[in-house]
Amino acid sequence: MNNINYLDEWRIEEPVFSDQFFSKYESIMAMGNGYLGLRNCHEESYSNETRNMFVAGIFNKFSESEVTELANFPDISKIMLWINGKRFSLLSGKLTAYERIFNYKTGESVRNFKWQDEYGHKLRFQIKKFVSMDNKHLIITELKLANFGNALSLTIESGIDGTTTNSGSQHFEEGNRRLFEDQYLYLQTQTTQSNVKIAIASYNKLDAEYAGRIVMRRRQLVDVKKVELGLNQEINLTKYSIIKTSRDLDYTNEEYLEKNLITELAEVTQCSYQQLAKESEHAWNIIWHEGETLIESDSFKDALMLNFARYHMHIMSPIHDSRLNIGAKGMSGEGYKGHTFWDTEIFVLPYFTYVFPEFAKSLITYRIKGLDAAKINAKKNGYGGAQYPWESAWLSDGEVTPELGDIDIVTGKPTPILSGKLEQHVTGDVVFGVLEYLKATNDVEISKQIFDVLMETAYFWATRSSYNKDEDRYEILDVMGPDEYKEHVNNNAYTNYLAKFTLESAISAYDRSTDSIKQVDFAVKIERVKEVSAKLYLPIPNGKNILPQDDTYLQKKLIDLTKYLNAKEVNTLFLDYNLSQVNDIQVSKQADVILLMLLFPTLFDQQTLIDNWNYYFPKTLHDSSLSLCSHCNFALMLGMNDLAYELFKREFNIDLGDYNMKSSDAGVHAASMGGIWQNVVRGFGGFCMEKSKAIINAKLPKQWHRLVYTVVIRGNKLSVEITHKFIKLKLIHGNQVSVVVNGQNQELSEDNREITI
Ligand code: BGC
Repeated sequence: MNNINYLDEWRIEEPVFSDQFFSKYESIMAMGNGYLGLRNCHEESYSNETRNMFVAGIFNKFSESEVTELANFPDISKIMLWINGKRFSLLSGKLTAYERIFNYKTGESVRNFKWQDEYGHKLRFQIKKFVSMDNKHLIITELKLANFGNALSLTIESGIDGTTTNSGSQHFEEGNRRLFEDQYLYLQTQTTQSNVKIAIASYNKLDAEYAGRIVMRRRQLVDVKKVELGLNQEINLTKYSIIKTSRDLDYTNEEYLEKNLITELAEVTQCSYQQLAKESEHAWNIIWHEGETLIESDSFKDALMLNFARYHMHIMSPIHDSRLNIGAKGMSGEGYKGHTFWDTEIFVLPYFTYVFPEFAKSLITYRIKGLDAAKINAKKNGYGGAQYPWESAWLSDGEVTPELGDIDIVTGKPTPILSGKLEQHVTGDVVFGVLEYLKATNDVEISKQIFDVLMETAYFWATRSSYNKDEDRYEILDVMGPDEYKEHVNNNAYTNYLAKFTLESAISAYDRSTDSIKQVDFAVKIERVKEVSAKLYLPIPNGKNILPQDDTYLQKKLIDLTKYLNAKEVNTLFLDYNLSQVNDIQVSKQADVILLMLLFPTLFDQQTLIDNWNYYFPKTLHDSSLSLCSHCNFALMLGMNDLAYELFKREFNIDLGDYNMKSSDAGVHAASMGGIWQNVVRGFGGFCMEKSKAIINAKLPKQWHRLVYTVVIRGNKLSVEITHKFIKLKLIHGNQVSVVVNGQNQELSEDNREITI
């Protein structure tokens, strides 16, 4: 029996109930809408589950020794059942006809099963739930239960449980619990350090006669309903919950969290589960329709992977509020504490930039709003300008990377985490992401707002670089590149090139600017920027045509990596070596030089691209989920289409695959989701923008029959259909766009909306 069944392009199934794999399903079947995220835990609750609900932007710091993290909200998803006083659990009794199906098109989870115990109680269950894409504050569960065995007394406990923690760290005050109108459960509390107020209200609608009471326990408010269930009787329980916080943009005063919330709950309870599900489905359909992307392949799993990735990108992205950004695990788990990394700009943002530019704008605005904190961060580290944090959370928090990781069991001391101090390329990545957005949109507003970001980030690099008198050049010493297996290196090529890109972009923005006040403001800084830019050391390919990843990588030890390259799991190298030994070996965690060349392909000739691929690919273990997607697109750039398709298929295993059932325990991998889309559209679909020109050089895999994608180029929405016989371009809105398809210029306009080549 498979661990996961892949049903079609939109649906997967958990075919057997198993308490071994709770975390995998909780993450990959997580639900949300960008405002909130809910792990898909079983209603009846088990000891080894990880029951999480997060609201974007609600960070809190538990103690001075911990960093801020997305706070795990009081739980509303648990519904406990007691049969004749005995707690119902699928770990006891006899379970048959079990299935849990998740539909990425609608975001709905449906669980069906039959269960019986040794007392002749036989029950049939159907439990459905979703987080609404239409009303971002709404979560609904519907539980249908039919008795086809002996009569029984059923007790249902369904409430709001404030005992939840982030693996032990409690982020909320005990708060006020109360009942409104004798039926609406209500909890208002606040985070202990960031002082954000949150309010949750739930209502349990039961279509049967019951004896009910409300029980208050410490941090809990429970609605207890007792029902007598005879043979062939059925009940239907619908649980409606609404969640709001004082950080919501609509928040004005207390009424919002109390009166308005209760009124809203009362209103939604007038609607059935089906009606609300339809509204949510409609909101999803708009997204699917607006950004239509289809793959017709010999294997439907290709389309499933794409749909899975797009679904997760939409549920993890808080594009409703430009003070918020995307966590490296979205809101699907506690991993990386909800923090934002370069994963956004380099991996996820391109999807929004090209398919939903207005969403990308919100994510970029987050970085613009984060400029002040980035300036403080640079100053704290002894530099000028603005240094974006390696990990960021709430805008004013600055750098939030934990400084210490797990305890080393040998020394008993915590392992230092150096990325927050050394992985400075993020400041270049942010600029890269913004400029890609401007290339795609020509957004005048952002182009104005970004001026200070360019000046300050460039000035950061200028002050960060040190002058090497002997070589008469500036160098960037003591960093960590994307390859986190090399700590404290000098002149990481990726970092230096991104720094140079930032310096040059700032100089050109300054020279183009007509704002005399800004010109005066930045006159001194730009001089320094120009000086450093002119002499910044950019590593170049050596005698063997290999671009050194950093000053020492190429001199490090070579070992046989076959065993690790063939391993099914990630991080197997650490079974044999510790990090300091890995530092001395020519082995990379993820794309580093390869990613640099992918982002700036025109800086290198074809032979250099090939030689560097041949050198670095066999030394890269893909121990980070950011790696395979970069290699897939690089392989396509070199014309290795079959290998690229193989790498693409391997991405399936990062989250969705069933051979490593532990890979998503702490949440799904946001960057990989963006990478999947980039492979489909920018890789196989061959779409890119060079300066202001859109270019399509499709490389459809043999296994694909048809690929359709949508991109928005400077306000013109284009649908691209690719088969092995033709390419069809359709201008959906906008009035004029030119596209170079396989080297030939094609013009689409109001009078000529469709072209087939
Ligand atoms: C990767 C980083 C990435 C982080 C968050 C790490 O394992 O090496 O590049 O930013 O995960 O996804």
